[in-house]
Amino acid sequence: MRGSKVLGAPSKPPRVRPERAEPEDVDDPRRPRRVVDYSLERRRALGKLVLTATGASENLDPHPDLLRAAKYHGQPLAEACPWCRSKEMVLLRYTWGDELGDFTGRQHTLAEIDEMAGEQGQFRVDEVEVCRECHWHFRRRSYVLGDGQPRPAKRARKNDTW
Ligand SMILES: [Zn+2]
Repeated sequence: MRGSKVLGAPSKPPRVRPERAEPEDVDDPRRPRRVVDYSLERRRALGKLVLTATGASENLDPHPDLLRAAKYHGQPLAEACPWCRSKEMVLLRYTWGDELGDFTGRQHTLAEIDEMAGEQGQFRVDEVEVCRECHWHFRRRSYVLGDGQPRPAKRARKNDTW
């Protein structure tokens, strides 16, 4: 199954851009551009957790779909969970974009995303770490891939695989 739909995680960017983006010059559709690193926010969120230590943080209470995706998909991470120190951390990748149309907001493997980068003009990837043990989750990084040539939005058809 390619790209299981996950509702509510991570937060969906508002649809303010037009249906078709401007073309952009791209040397390598698979090299991340417009990279946003959230490590500062991650440290802050962890600091808040330490202060409250109630477990009530939204970073420990993910949407059930995100947990399910973490259980069955996700790429294991070598590092320990920053909160509970377990080795049960996985990385999930979600793709967003007007061009993806009905398929925006789905979870994909690195190989699928690599393929998409050669087929799409522009889409954003969110990398979300999830701990299967304590449910800590955080968006670590976000970036744009694609060849820069805008495509019409994809529409879901019967029997479409993604
Ligand atoms: Zn954990």
